[in-house]
Amino acid sequence: MRLSRYFLPVLKETPGDAVVVSHQLMLRAGMIRQTAAGIYAWLPLGLRVLKKIEAIVREEQDRAGAIEVLMPTIQSAELWKNSGRYDAYGPEMLRIKDRHDREMLFSPTAEELFTTIFANGARSYRDLPKNIYQIQWKFRDEVRPRFGVLRGREFLMKDAYSFDLDFDAARHSYNRMFVAYLRTFQRMGLHAIPMRADTGPIGGDLSHEFIVLAPTGESDVFYHRNWESARDLTVDADDAHALAGFVDGLNADYAATDEKRDEAAEAAAGDAILQSKGIEVGQVFYFGDKYTKAMGVTVQGADGQAVTPLMGSYGIGVSRLIGAIIEASHDKDGIVWPEAVAPYKVALINLRADDTACREAADALYGQLEAAGVEVLYDDRDERGGTKFATADLIGVPWQLIVGPKGVAAGTVELKRRGGDREDVSVDAAMARLT
Ligand code: ATP
Ligand code: MG
Ligand code: MG
Ligand code: MG
Repeated sequence: MRLSRYFLPVLKETPGDAVVVSHQLMLRAGMIRQTAAGIYAWLPLGLRVLKKIEAIVREEQDRAGAIEVLMPTIQSAELWKNSGRYDAYGPEMLRIKDRHDREMLFSPTAEELFTTIFANGARSYRDLPKNIYQIQWKFRDEVRPRFGVLRGREFLMKDAYSFDLDFDAARHSYNRMFVAYLRTFQRMGLHAIPMRADTGPIGGDLSHEFIVLAPTGESDVFYHRNWESARDLTVDADDAHALAGFVDGLNADYAATDEKRDEAAEAAAGDAILQSKGIEVGQVFYFGDKYTKAMGVTVQGADGQAVTPLMGSYGIGVSRLIGAIIEASHDKDGIVWPEAVAPYKVALINLRADDTACREAADALYGQLEAAGVEVLYDDRDERGGTKFATADLIGVPWQLIVGPKGVAAGTVELKRRGGDREDVSVDAAMARLT
């Protein structure tokens, strides 16, 4: 992409209403614009990152055996009355009336809808297990939307729902999502810790939140020092026994959110327990027959008797993840993207757009990189070098490739890792490093 033709409205000044660094940088880097409290427009650069994160989430869900669908954002109130949650959910639910005065709502989560759709298509025990998911916008009328995409009112969520015949199978489904979540966050360069958690309005008695430690996080969390280092996630998720052992092994190291603290366990671990603030990037729930029973859903068991399927649900805050990644990875000049989620891999900077030799050299490099399938943002604008460097640093692209008059004369370019030092290399060497 040529920057001269792109839409990248960067800001020099930090907007006064943005208090956390991820919010400030997303506005400054031209990724998002607020259109109403907690509601954002996604501009081209922000959308690219959102799509990258979405793709990683999708790959790991598919790999864990979940099946993608897409449900509507607007649902009828009827559905929620069937489970008894319509009244219980409270003011976070955006309630709407259509022209016929029918009660509708913008989905804040989708247990009822998935249960209904599942029940509609599953008749017998042979149809289970199933795990169905979507990546879809949600709306919650948060009391205090703030911190940009970290707590929006409209936000993108991956939500999955599993259906099993008995507790052991349901627990296996839960464990599959558990490790899929850890893999998902690890691939984005995030260290997320699974913590015992309260179930809130989703319900049930078993739950973990996945927390990224950050001073700006809204959750108070307590965890064993062992969680400070990264975990090896190699395990055969199809082997229910091995997977259960693996997950139990991880959970043997204490980690709990404020609501689920266990004083005895903390006392036993002594000064190995650390306290911090954290950002909830995902949560998994097991709630058994809470919805299937309330909604009268059964399938025919192997013995001909009706069985009520047991369920879990599993959420990831796809748009919130962008904020969490920036909170974890930035410096004084801007964002420092982990390569897996970077909007572009290379910022190609022509220092002298007014110089024919420089322009020809930079155009040629751009063509070569594009042909090699490298995602490159080419700063071909007629601007000062300082402005171009500042933009490249701000938007956090992992590599900068710099074309200037001296290098062109000598047949070299400068290659720089975001935040690192510049290095003179031949064009071939640069291409070899970037492709
Ligand atoms: P929180 O405690 O932050 O309010 P939650 O526990 O209410 O989140 P869940 O119902 O567990 O949220 O939803 C699944 C995921 O959706 C959360 O783990 C989080 O990553 C994301 N999420 C929830 N609310 C928001 C929001 N207002 N803005 C952005 N992401 C959100
Ligand atoms: Mg909430
Ligand atoms: Mg929560
Ligand atoms: Mg939660």
